[in-house]
Amino acid sequence: MKYIVLTLFKEMVESAMNTSIMGRAIEKGLIKLDVIDIRDYACNKHNRVDDYPYGGGAGMVMQAEPVYKACEAARALAGSDENAGNDCELGHGRTKLIYLSPIGRTFTQEVAKELAQEENLIFLCGHYEGIDERVLEMEVDDYISLGDFVLTGGELPAICIMDAVARLVPGVLNNDDSASDESFEGNTLEYPQYTRPEEFMGKRVPDVLLSGHHANIKQWRREQSLLRTKERRPDLMDKVELDKKDIKFLKSLE
Ligand code: SAM
Repeated sequence: MKYIVLTLFKEMVESAMNTSIMGRAIEKGLIKLDVIDIRDYACNKHNRVDDYPYGGGAGMVMQAEPVYKACEAARALAGSDENAGNDCELGHGRTKLIYLSPIGRTFTQEVAKELAQEENLIFLCGHYEGIDERVLEMEVDDYISLGDFVLTGGELPAICIMDAVARLVPGVLNNDDSASDESFEGNTLEYPQYTRPEEFMGKRVPDVLLSGHHANIKQWRREQSLLRTKERRPDLMDKVELDKKDIKFLKSLE
């Protein structure tokens, strides 16, 4: 999986991505990361990439030309890797260019799974009031929002998405099972987790987890997942596939 990030704040992306599990994945070559400074493609001697919005209004808008050139440089970079492995047309095929924006579709675990199928993901991070619409029309394959709120830039959403997608790349997590047993798998929230000691400030770990009885532990975890989902995210319950035991358990709660 190759990530290319187009940003005005390279250090923000690099410092987050070179830390912890993401940093190790990059070191091991499981994830490749290139960060391009959009300012390197500024068309004036002051390296400015923003200007006043036509029609007036607050704030500045990122100009089309530097963004266009940075996108084309990213596509060429992605294309050189694609062509090393197959005969995709330069910069297209298994490459998706994503503009992080509040007007995009909302990011979810399902979207993370979808993006994990791509070979190259290019993330275009906006700033100020956003980016000139014309270059977005020309370059963007997908618009993704982190949620219904407005941030100052697209870097944090890009980092979140890269992190969530990288966890699905084989070998990134120490134990590949951990990604398949988590919240949103099967549309349920994860059951509670405990570690040593057995008792903390008078609160004991549930006995079943100490029993060594794998079937009972599995059943308890499933019930806790259902209970949590019902209480905290009732909107997900319609999408959960329930078996007879699940239905019996949920009836027992009524
Ligand atoms: N004027 C824009 C609007 O009202 O939709 C908001 C611009 S915002 C201040 C600057 C940049 O932050 C955007 O271009 C986008 O890249 C990023 N951004 C802000 N909120 C975001 C969100 N919820 N999801 C993804 N990106 C976001």
